[in-house]
Amino acid sequence: MRRIAILTSGGDAPGMNAAIRALTRKAIHEGFEIFGIERGYLGIIEEKIFPLSNRDVGGIITQGGTMLKTARFPEFQNEEIQRKAYDILKTYDIDHLVVIGGDGSMRGATSLSKLGMSTMTIPCTIDNDMGGTQYTIGYDTALNTVVDAVGRIRDTSNSHERVAIVEVMGRKAGHIALKAGLACGAEIVLVPENPMPLHAVCRHLKETQIRGKEYSVILVAEGAYNSGEVKAFIKEHTEFDPSLTVLGYLQRGGGPSAFDAILAARMSEVCINLLMSGVANRLVGYIDGHIRALSYEEAERLEFPIDEKDYRLLSILSS
Ligand code: ATP
Repeated sequence: MRRIAILTSGGDAPGMNAAIRALTRKAIHEGFEIFGIERGYLGIIEEKIFPLSNRDVGGIITQGGTMLKTARFPEFQNEEIQRKAYDILKTYDIDHLVVIGGDGSMRGATSLSKLGMSTMTIPCTIDNDMGGTQYTIGYDTALNTVVDAVGRIRDTSNSHERVAIVEVMGRKAGHIALKAGLACGAEIVLVPENPMPLHAVCRHLKETQIRGKEYSVILVAEGAYNSGEVKAFIKEHTEFDPSLTVLGYLQRGGGPSAFDAILAARMSEVCINLLMSGVANRLVGYIDGHIRALSYEEAERLEFPIDEKDYRLLSILSS
C-alpha cells in the first residue's frame, strides 16, 4: 500500500480543513494510507506524524483554521534540515508529501523534491499571491470577509461624513485590496503594485468633497503603505481627520466560502489522480476555469499580477 502524508504550512487560510478532508477521503478511496503531519515542516522534524481516517476529518469542512496546525519554520531553508526531514519521511515509509500552503510552502516542497521526495502543493493562502494559479484557496473567503467589514465601516463613516481608512492584508500583493475595493465601492485603493502618491490621495479627497461626497473609504493594502502614516499625512495636508481600522486576523478566520470549499475538493481530487498516474512535483493550480498542474519552475514563472483594468474601472466607478 502506498503512503501519502499531508501538512499545512505558512499563514492559515479558510479552506485548509476542506483540503485536508478532501485529500484524506479521496486518497483512502483510491487505496492509499494517509498520514497527517502537525505544524508544517517543523512537524516533520518533531515527528508529529500520525495516520488519518475518514472519521478523523469528519465535521471540519466548514471550519476555519487547520486541524493539522501550521507554523513558520524558517530553518527549513537550511539544506541539512531538509535532508533530515527527507530521512524522517522515509523512516515512516512516506511515498508522497502533499503540502497545503502559500509560495514559501511551495518552495519547501520544491527543496524536498530536489532531494528525491515526491511532493505536490495545493495553493492555500488568503493573499492570492502565488504563481501558477489565478485563485488560491482562502482568497475568495477573505475577500468576502473584507467586503462585509468595509460595508459596516462605510455605514458609520457615511453617517458621520468621515474619511475611513481600512488596512487589509495581502503581503506584497494588492489582490485583496483591489478586488474588495471594486466589490464594496471604495473611493481609493492603495496597492503595492501601483501606489498612488499620498499628495494625489489628498487631492482626490478634496475633489470628491467638492463633487458633494461627504465621506470616502480608502483601502490600504498592507504592502503599499503604513496605514498609520497615511492617516497622519491626510490629517496634516487636508481638513479631514480619517478613522483607521486595521482588519488584521479577522481576514484569516472563518469557514470557507462555497467557492473555496469546492476549489479545495477539486484540487485535491486532481492532486491524488496525478499521484496515481505517476506525476509528482507539481503545483495544482486554477487557470481559466480549469484545474491544471504545473511544475514548480513553471508555477514560479507564471505570475498573475493584479489586473490594471480593475484599477481603472474602480476609479471610474468611484466618481
Ligand atoms: P502565506 O504567504 O499565506 O503566509 P507561505 O507558505 O508563503 O504562506 P511562508 O512563511 O513564506 O508562508 O512559508 C511557510 C514555510 O515554508 C516557512 O516557514 C518555511 O518552513 C517554508 N519555506 C519558506 N520558504 C522556503 C524556502 N525558500 N525553502 C524551503 N522552505 C521554505
